[in-house]
Amino acid sequence: MSVNLESENSGSKQETREFQAEVKQLLDIVINSLYTDREIFLRELISNAADALEKFRYENIINKDVSDPDLPLHISIELDEKEKLLIISDTGIGMTGDELIENLGTIAHSGSKAFIKSMADNDKKDLNLIGQFGVGFYAAFMVARKVTVLTKSYQPEAQAYEWSSEGMGSYAVKTAGGITRGTRIILELKEDALDFIKPETVKRIIKQYSSFVAFPIFIGEEKV
Ligand code: ADP
Ligand code: MG
Repeated sequence: MSVNLESENSGSKQETREFQAEVKQLLDIVINSLYTDREIFLRELISNAADALEKFRYENIINKDVSDPDLPLHISIELDEKEKLLIISDTGIGMTGDELIENLGTIAHSGSKAFIKSMADNDKKDLNLIGQFGVGFYAAFMVARKVTVLTKSYQPEAQAYEWSSEGMGSYAVKTAGGITRGTRIILELKEDALDFIKPETVKRIIKQYSSFVAFPIFIGEEKV
């Protein structure tokens, strides 16, 4: 598996790729189910950000050659009411182009595939378990009509990438510029999910599900 988006004139060309069949199946469930506990999407994205920060902390100890070594290790949430965006950023390990395609386009574990099949077959869907089956990222599509991921790996010469999808079977990847180490996930909220743009709602969800996260979490300038 490899990504080759470097075009000759240093511009960036976009490549559209199909999700693996199981991912399509999962997204179909995530997008179409009338699920009440949608707020767990934030727990999943924060958990991924914390994992990425932890991995970076480890790399930084065993391997001194990292990009942007002075960035503080934290998670930051921006709420843009006007544009209806919820943005969650971390200064963690980031992803290379190949990792991006592998991690946010395919599912390797057979246990996860079995989970998705059981979800598809079952009328009563408990999406709360999504994180335990290694597919928590896709919970973002419960509240977002479009998800964009900007990411840059910790490796000093790493190229940054932009991944985006509306969850409808395919995603687009292209190279990106002007990004520091880590991952930034931009959620364009669905019209019926605009509650998640309110700082007090986001704060409550973080207190409820993410109170033991080992890195500081900011909403705007304010530490939660
Ligand atoms: P899990 O966290 O259980 O592995 P997810 O669906 O939540 O499953 O995430 C899939 C993978 O995508 C992660 O294992 C990780 O490799 C990658 N990933 C997701 N979010 C981030 C992030 N913020 N920074 C770096 N990698 C990430
Ligand atoms: Mg996860």
